[in-house]
Amino acid sequence: MAIVENLEKLSNVCGVAGREQEVGALTKKLLKPYVDEIKEDKLGNIIGIKKGKQNVPRVMLAAHMDEIGLLVKTISKEGFLQFTKIGGIDDRVLMAQKVIVYTEKGPLHGIIGSKPPHIQKEDERKRVMAWDELFIDIGAENQEEVKKMGVKIGDPVGFDIKFAQIGKNIVIGKAFDDRAACAIMIETMKRLEKTECTVFAVGTVQEEVGLRGAITAAYGIDPDVGIAIDVTVAGDTPGVKEVDAPIKLGKGPSISISDAGLLSHPKVLRLLVDAAEENKIPYQLETGLAGSTDAARISLTKEGVPCGVISIPTRYIHSPTSLLSLKDAENAVKLTVAALKKIPKYF
Ligand SMILES: [Zn+2]
Repeated sequence: MAIVENLEKLSNVCGVAGREQEVGALTKKLLKPYVDEIKEDKLGNIIGIKKGKQNVPRVMLAAHMDEIGLLVKTISKEGFLQFTKIGGIDDRVLMAQKVIVYTEKGPLHGIIGSKPPHIQKEDERKRVMAWDELFIDIGAENQEEVKKMGVKIGDPVGFDIKFAQIGKNIVIGKAFDDRAACAIMIETMKRLEKTECTVFAVGTVQEEVGLRGAITAAYGIDPDVGIAIDVTVAGDTPGVKEVDAPIKLGKGPSISISDAGLLSHPKVLRLLVDAAEENKIPYQLETGLAGSTDAARISLTKEGVPCGVISIPTRYIHSPTSLLSLKDAENAVKLTVAALKKIPKYF
């Protein structure tokens, strides 16, 4: 299945927010065969254009290419790297993680170290070690050696996670937020035959630090309709109350009604629900999530753009490894294709 192959490739590359060159190049390569034109804007957004029979409506799909990660902040005399966090990372998941430092000379393996528990004071053992008490150990003897290895201040650091299929339809890996959507968007463009509308498939940058790439991409495209594809919290794990996170793995993509940044436009909502029901694609409705997506920014472009969101239920988002169902990914592709075909009837 092409989705899983592309997801594996996309999940294995670096794309810490603001350092999306590698994932951008890969997205461009994978998307290119299925669009009429492909370009990169000044911020690094990758924009694939599939021309419709007509120029309008102009539809913008957005899947963010960036991921949460770290940046090298300082290099100690002893050869350890201190870091800053990029995007919403929970300090509790940092300790003892294997990481990759992406230097100009190539990737370096490292581990996030801390003061060993044996010598911690009692109060230290009870609390979570904050990110600024941790450091990355790349096996260097001192500052000089670190520099010789090619590390510079500002180098991005990603989690070192091996992609794997662990169940019949379940995969685990790094940065599924939002590489899952990148893979889904690429597959959508592959399956989409010539449509009435013109589709702009956009791999956006800097979503994790404030939905920034979507702002400039949408301004340049000036779309009539926007659909963000992203991941959402699958709350079907022990200890999670249904009322807090009702979306479940394997029950189909979620169609968002509202989140912290967007009230989905009623026409887009209708379009997505109709597309799912007419094609018997399972879906879940979601409202009230604390986060937001690129659609929040696209909707505020110029005079306003009707927007909606299709999300993939994903467990352990914003931790080093997340988990999703390939069935949901497949259904998200089907839903996006079906919706794009129907758009001229609604707009
Ligand atoms: Zn996301």
